[in-house]
Amino acid sequence: MGEITSHKEALRRLKEGNARFVSMKRRHDPGVDYELRAELLKGQSPYATVLSCSDSRVPVELIFDEGLGSIFVVRVAGNIATPSLIGSIEYATLHSTSKLIVIMGHESCGAVNACMDIYENPNKIHTPGIDLIVKHIMRSVLKLNKLKPGHKHTDDEVAIENVRTVKEQLLRESPPLKKLYDSGHINIVGAFYTLAEGEVQFLDV
Ligand SMILES: [Zn+2]
Repeated sequence: MGEITSHKEALRRLKEGNARFVSMKRRHDPGVDYELRAELLKGQSPYATVLSCSDSRVPVELIFDEGLGSIFVVRVAGNIATPSLIGSIEYATLHSTSKLIVIMGHESCGAVNACMDIYENPNKIHTPGIDLIVKHIMRSVLKLNKLKPGHKHTDDEVAIENVRTVKEQLLRESPPLKKLYDSGHINIVGAFYTLAEGEVQFLDV
């Protein structure tokens, strides 16, 4: 696990793993054996961090064909970034070995759909927790509507914009991550997962 030393290698490994998943050529139980479990007792050295939606159709280790100890996974509905989630990402990068941060949205996201619904029906009653998630995604809805007024954006367009917004937010709200990113020590990339194909499309790389 410790062999990956750059964000370029990390991205290549994620792409290769996803290609195996897409073509149904996954390894047999990768990184799930007695020896590795015992080895990981000494500590973890994940090569990438993935901020993903909690959606049951997007299990991060499965879609990248990885097992224990490889990917530091942060999951929350709508893959938003609140302070504790940013803290989790910072932990993996600043105090562990992750070189690459992937912010991954996905097709037909329920959190994005809920946000679109509230945008159209603002008086709907939700819970404070759901409202907070919606508030984060709403920034992307408003941004897209400003860019293209009158156009009805699809949930997937909003999900992709949300990924870009979260990346900007991460760079704005975490000076240590921004420093590592600007100097090229780490990379932060957006991604979008399509359900039927099982494919992760990396954005702007
Ligand atoms: Zn989702």
